[in-house]
Amino acid sequence: MTRQPARTELSALGEFGLIDRIANAVELVNPSSLQGIGDDCAVIDPGELMQVVTTDMLVEGVHFDLGYVPLKHLGYKAVVVNLSDVCAMNAAPRQVTVAIALSNRFPLEAVDELYAGMLAACKHYGVDLVGGDTTSSTSGLVISITAIGAAKKEDIVYRHTAKEHDLVVVSGDLGGAFMGLQVLEREKAVFKQDPNVQPDLSGFDYILQRQLKPEARKDIIALFREMKLKPTAMIDISDGLASEALHLARRSNLGVKIYDEKIPIDPLTIQTARDFHIDPSTAALNGGEDYELLFTIAQGDYEKVKGSPHFTVVGHMTDKASGYHLVDKQGGEHALKAQGWDALLKG
Ligand code: ADP
Ligand code: MG
Repeated sequence: MTRQPARTELSALGEFGLIDRIANAVELVNPSSLQGIGDDCAVIDPGELMQVVTTDMLVEGVHFDLGYVPLKHLGYKAVVVNLSDVCAMNAAPRQVTVAIALSNRFPLEAVDELYAGMLAACKHYGVDLVGGDTTSSTSGLVISITAIGAAKKEDIVYRHTAKEHDLVVVSGDLGGAFMGLQVLEREKAVFKQDPNVQPDLSGFDYILQRQLKPEARKDIIALFREMKLKPTAMIDISDGLASEALHLARRSNLGVKIYDEKIPIDPLTIQTARDFHIDPSTAALNGGEDYELLFTIAQGDYEKVKGSPHFTVVGHMTDKASGYHLVDKQGGEHALKAQGWDALLKG
């Protein structure tokens, strides 16, 4: 006999009971968080700093599939994708607010799992959950998170400030999250055909982690300070290298050239891509969800990133008239295009 997990209906607690439960699980760590959950608004003291604010909404069936994403991972990732945007401004994340719409399909235990994941991310990044909203949904789960960060005015890095001849640099490696998703989709399809078959996810740890438990590169922001390096422009990689490089170029009124052979890709990503008959570079260029940082630096700063295990120079900014190019391994030039996932999978 299989034991059913405990199921407590949300109606047993009511909205205010649920909010109390969430409030009790939260411990504020930032001195700038003056008031958290429990009043009409949170109160934040930015001191002398500028504040940056960003919101991301995740909709069940559109952005995530509860068929293979555990709620705890979903909560963690939902916070991380927002913190990644704060890092992409070269700012330190400090607070989040969380709005959720729940259907009665979700018991209290599910909400607990979701918040356990969100609070684990908050703890890991030293961020406070200071408020939110709770409402019901007739269909799926919707999570909207707002993140607030702080930075000195002179430290903030925008997308539109790259200069011609600047080097284009990426942190970490790319394409892993997309290949992790392919593995999960494959195992889900197998399971649908025969629920007695156990999913075979062994050996895919790194790329599954890249998909299910991505991290925001707050460490890279700290490293910039240590290295006394200020990027000239920056963006985080949520939609693939191609799309983000185009954003930097267009917003800066420049062209860009990316070199295929320079793109950093982990060996497991390469191997898995080949098994799926996907070009590894395509996974990196168009896959997305890697949450690495893509930034530009003045040529004079090249020595600072040269030889670093954290950074790879993948190209440079050109004048606008030169356009947007991808240079292949044979030196051939192609138009750099933001294909997105759908085109990639149909292709
Ligand atoms: P109001 O009706 O004034 O908007 P609520 O009753 O919705 O207030 O919220 C009460 C308090 O609980 C506020 O501080 C709000 O930010 C917080 N809160 C509500 N829902 C959530 C949630 N899902 N997660 C975190 N905090 C929440
Ligand atoms: Mg409210």
